[in-house]
Amino acid sequence: MAIYLDNAATTKPCNEAVSAAYEAMTVNFGNPSSLHRAGLDAQLAVDKARKVIAGSIGADSSCVYFTSGATESNNLALRGAAAAYGKRKKKIVISSVEHPSVNETLSALEKNGFTAVRVSPVSGAFRADDLINACDEETCLISLMMVNNETGHILPVSEVFAAVKKRFPDIITHCDCVQGYMKLPVRVNTLGADMISLSAHKIHGVKGVGALYIRKGVRVIPIVSGGGQEKGIRSGTESVPLIAAFGAAAEKYSADISERYDKVCDLRKQLLAELSEIPGITVNSPADGSPYIVNISVEGRRSEIMLHFLEQRDIYVSSGSACSKGARSGVLKEFGINDRAADSALRISMTHENTVEQLAQLGAALREGIKKLKG
Ligand code: PLP
Repeated sequence: MAIYLDNAATTKPCNEAVSAAYEAMTVNFGNPSSLHRAGLDAQLAVDKARKVIAGSIGADSSCVYFTSGATESNNLALRGAAAAYGKRKKKIVISSVEHPSVNETLSALEKNGFTAVRVSPVSGAFRADDLINACDEETCLISLMMVNNETGHILPVSEVFAAVKKRFPDIITHCDCVQGYMKLPVRVNTLGADMISLSAHKIHGVKGVGALYIRKGVRVIPIVSGGGQEKGIRSGTESVPLIAAFGAAAEKYSADISERYDKVCDLRKQLLAELSEIPGITVNSPADGSPYIVNISVEGRRSEIMLHFLEQRDIYVSSGSACSKGARSGVLKEFGINDRAADSALRISMTHENTVEQLAQLGAALREGIKKLKG
């Protein structure tokens, strides 16, 4: 049995998600826009998922829009709000460690006349004041991730959004909650977010579906035009199987978030104890980060070499971010990790289903790899 420790890249779909997708493909295969019974049944399946997902973040169902994933949700949030609110106010504030679907989207907006402010962490941590003070009357949008996907750093999102809204109520706030959803509490009001991006495949749903929460009254200009589905915000026939699977996973994992969190905290404790015994390993993740992600560097052993060594022992981890396909991570540099350490970085990302035995096997394999692999 393989030991899968790359859950920040994607998770295994749960049985409930697979069954829901299967049912939507075999029984409920109508087009939600069709006016007959089959269409209505498909629409009901979509609405059921919408209700569950909205409930899971303390939102009204009417504020949740399905997309093809968080990459699209982030694009829609940034481009859509920039188009709606950026006529005169041209500044957009983000952190310097956002996912490429935020960072690159902002680079594209810069080419269209927007000014980007990318706030860096100081000594490996974000200071709320730096993020708050980056906003001014020229700012139309601030977008911050809840949990960094490479290191597990938790950003002070609710503190920053509350202060920004107090000073500048017109600034739109967006949070990429992909790595926090179903792991930490995500509530729209506590976060103070006008928009929230979610992805199904990080919560044991299926790849290719996500959602964007948009607070009532917040304007977003669509980036896809077509048949007007999702109240015109995201045209295109809804992927009923993927949406139904997303709803099923959200329903399953809305319960027991803190129990799972505690279990993963115990796993991390075990993992860190194991790693502390291995010479040459340093931990790049902060002690107060998400327990689900542990980023380490193995001195003198390149990430890909060690990754494939572990793979030969049926242990799957990631080198930095899954999206960067082996390219050196700018995010680690932002957190103060030097190039040498970044070149040997591995990301171990867990779920509640991982076990202490699996982590012990990882530790043993790392020891073996350090011995066998040259620097
Ligand atoms: N945002 C974060 C923080 C992520 O970790 C990811 C995926 O790795 C995404 C956005 C993109 O999500 P998706 O794969 O649904 O497009």
